[in-house]
Amino acid sequence: MSTLERPYVLPGEPLPVRLLNTLWAERGDLRDDLTTPTDALTWLRTNGFPTKSVAPSELDAVVELRAALRTVAGHLTGDDRVSALRVGGDDPSVVTAADDVAAALVVIDEHSALAPTGHLALVDGQVQWSTPPPGSTIEDALAVIAAAAAVLFTGPDASRLRACHGPRCVLYFVQDHSRRQWCSLACGNRARAARHYRRHQDETAPRSRGKRTSEQPSTAPHPLR
Ligand SMILES: [Zn+2]
Repeated sequence: MSTLERPYVLPGEPLPVRLLNTLWAERGDLRDDLTTPTDALTWLRTNGFPTKSVAPSELDAVVELRAALRTVAGHLTGDDRVSALRVGGDDPSVVTAADDVAAALVVIDEHSALAPTGHLALVDGQVQWSTPPPGSTIEDALAVIAAAAAVLFTGPDASRLRACHGPRCVLYFVQDHSRRQWCSLACGNRARAARHYRRHQDETAPRSRGKRTSEQPSTAPHPLR
């Protein structure tokens, strides 16, 4: 198993969004790129952090930060996707509550506060400000991600953060041009196929009028909205 090479969805998104998107869906089934400490180490290294190891408790910290980011992203995007809410919190019936968002912000704050601030060092007789390479420990890496999330959630990109409403998609993306509606071309194609299917169902429904008006398709694409 390679520890450094692994593809992830939407690798061009900003760092915090890349962490959000370690939860993704394939044919309606949820996939999680961060289920083991090795998963977390691989993700961190693939995303540019020189982290050397990840302990089980540190995996928990990564997953905790991801959950907090998803809560805030859900709030900012008005995310009402059932599939995304199911993975974002304990209660799938509740669209992100203000208390949840406040608690998530505390988690992000706590992580960003752990960013290494550097220290004074004497180098060749000179007093210098020395900063360690960011992300060499889990604490540092999560601090960098949390700080980047704080910038994303409060800066100009906050209004461009989107929840993808492709069928069963749980991904987020930053809308980098005004015509982008979906996280990917594949999601756009699935959404168009689902729309086509619905239209076809609407056109054929009157012919089966009578006692079958409440009949539901069971094997069709199942768009969220
Ligand atoms: Zn999508």
